[in-house]
Amino acid sequence: MGRLLIVSNRLPITVSKRSGILYYEHSVGGLATGMACLKHDNQVWIGWSGLASEKIHAKDDRNIRTQLEKQGCAPVGLSSADIRDYYYGFCNKTIWPLFHYFPYYCIYESKLWQRYERVNARFCEAVLDIAEPEDRIWIHDYQLMLLPQMLREHLPEVAIGFFLHIPFPSFELLRLLPWRTEILRGLLGADLIGFHEYDYVRHFLSSVHRICGVEHALGTLTVDNRLVRVDAFPMGIDFEKYAHARQNSTVQSRIDSLTRKMGSRKIIVSIDRLDYTKGILHRLEAFDWFLTCYPNYRQKVCLVLVAVPSRTRVESYADLRRQIEHLVGRINGTYGTIDWMPISYMYRSLPFEELVALYTVADVALITPLRDGMNLVAKEYIAAKVDSDSRGVLILSEMAGAACELSEALVVNPHDKERIVEAIVQALEMDPREQSHRNRQMQQRLSRYTVQRWAHDFMESFEQIKAQQKKLASRKINRSIRKQLVESYRQARRRLLLLDYDGTLQEFVSHPERAKPDAELLAILTRLCKDRKNEVVIISGRDKDTLTEWLGDLDLSLVAEHGNWIRKQGAQWRCVESMVVDWKTIVRPIMELYMDRTPGSFIEEKDFSLVWHCRRSEPDLARLRTYELRDAVVHLTENMNLGVFEGSKILEVKSITSNKGTAAEQWIRQEHWDLILAAGDDYTDEDIFAVLPETAFSIKIGQGGSRARYNADTVTVMRSILRILTGTVSETDVSDHG
Ligand code: UDP
Repeated sequence: MGRLLIVSNRLPITVSKRSGILYYEHSVGGLATGMACLKHDNQVWIGWSGLASEKIHAKDDRNIRTQLEKQGCAPVGLSSADIRDYYYGFCNKTIWPLFHYFPYYCIYESKLWQRYERVNARFCEAVLDIAEPEDRIWIHDYQLMLLPQMLREHLPEVAIGFFLHIPFPSFELLRLLPWRTEILRGLLGADLIGFHEYDYVRHFLSSVHRICGVEHALGTLTVDNRLVRVDAFPMGIDFEKYAHARQNSTVQSRIDSLTRKMGSRKIIVSIDRLDYTKGILHRLEAFDWFLTCYPNYRQKVCLVLVAVPSRTRVESYADLRRQIEHLVGRINGTYGTIDWMPISYMYRSLPFEELVALYTVADVALITPLRDGMNLVAKEYIAAKVDSDSRGVLILSEMAGAACELSEALVVNPHDKERIVEAIVQALEMDPREQSHRNRQMQQRLSRYTVQRWAHDFMESFEQIKAQQKKLASRKINRSIRKQLVESYRQARRRLLLLDYDGTLQEFVSHPERAKPDAELLAILTRLCKDRKNEVVIISGRDKDTLTEWLGDLDLSLVAEHGNWIRKQGAQWRCVESMVVDWKTIVRPIMELYMDRTPGSFIEEKDFSLVWHCRRSEPDLARLRTYELRDAVVHLTENMNLGVFEGSKILEVKSITSNKGTAAEQWIRQEHWDLILAAGDDYTDEDIFAVLPETAFSIKIGQGGSRARYNADTVTVMRSILRILTGTVSETDVSDHG
């Protein structure tokens, strides 16, 4: 296993030079925490150090590199002009506003775009300098969206993951960008593309479809014959750090002093970077309206407004700061008295201890971004309430990614001033027991889906998609595999052919009763049956009467209803005995995993079944997860007698009497076969593949994961293989693609 190369705009260590001395400071962001937990023995972080290259003297350069290398970092040199045009320019004046639905703040300048391309190419060189083919490369965020494809061109086989930490906008917004195709193509160079929530996944997939013409199947795209997986991984927080921060004596003394200062006044807290996406002005307007409508609350509440300085070199941010400070001044001037100021305003970043003390004492957190990829402050506020009887109310914007997981908060539209005022009153008057009840449910979720889990899940999906790609590449039936089969077939004295019907021997049609065998198929089967060395078994999900009518006159065996009925060659139909296995302890944990990853879903346990319900989940996500869960359960239970059934917004796993695999075993065990050939197209056929000996020749018709050794594209390809075996066509007349 190679190394993990993490690539982000900034390194987790920031280098600065003050009065001629170099300083190295750790970044405390969620990303660094998440990555730290992966505990990859061999990890390198590639990014900018924070110092413009022309400000680094030649003698410092080596020193900085050595210091950073010791901490697993490889710096990428960026000049002041790069920072100006790439970071402050294209990233923060084009991508950031567009992806946050502020198109009127966007500027579209080719000079900035070209610098963005050049800096991405610089990152590409830096990665190529150290990357090796077996490394895993995980690229982060909107500053590096061209990098995946740039790397792919140099290292076609390398594993590349990408995670976007901001929203992905709908197609209607993305289409405004003159370089939309390049951005999408850039991202598609990755093998796994992750977003915070499923809406962003949907937007991305629909943009890829409309702009690049590539359609997805259950979140998987095929790009230049390579599978690309797209999925949602909501980023969590370091839950324990916030839940038990009170045990830290500095935090406790800050809590005591804040409590003394605030007395009996209720505290509403508002904490964000000073950014137009955070809705600070709208929030202040709502607070102003609250004080107007509810004079009885004057003197009794205080809004603690923390605005963390951000992108101060971008004009719109400086403008926004002026507007916020003007509004704070107006509200304080209008309502304030000598002994009470409605708003306590801070324009700075708070250290962890102070921040968490503020979370702890705040009766209400008012977090109403106009658009936010995730919003970690909301999650931290809830986590920090663990040691305070879980009291406190979160008012959260529905436009924050976090709202999907924090549905017990008071969820508001950040543009709806009246609703925000209503929510403030509701929060201030909420019964403490209800507060605790709501928060505990959210805490439970946050404690399970932490930042550590987020990083693990991403890496796990990363491994899965790489494994899937590998398997698919090696399994597609080609000339040489066909030759091998023909050779084995010719040499074998006894052969067993286990063939599914619909989707394997016959194409699907809109009316199932019209899938009757055609002349070509009947001819193939007849020839196969005529050969005394062959035992032919059709194993189908169809009912026995249909099979009898369609194939009953041929000299072969039939299996109907997925193994419940068997008619051996020349004998009568008979029903198979039932068998019950204790399987719940294996299936339940995997269902729980899907429950955690699908807000609103739950598990019902019955005597003979486990049912996963997703009616209350976001419909598209529910559909995707249902397919995934079904796939996972089918693979997991392939040797057990279980049925996996999809109903209306449910997936039920239950014991069944038999399956195609148990039926197939009756023939497999019957005698020694020189050759076993099995073919099927869907998950019920996986039961057959699962019971085959390793030497068997198994074929799945169509794409996708399977236990079968090989894939054939279509029914036509499958039929040609059978025709080669019967000697009606020659090997060289057949194409691999049908
Ligand atoms: N934060 C901080 N000090 C402050 C305010 C915020 O360290 O004074 C941290 C906060 O704990 C959170 C992060 O900054 O982890 C902000 O993340 P969020 O997702 O809420 O917003 P972003 O700034 O990424 O848009």
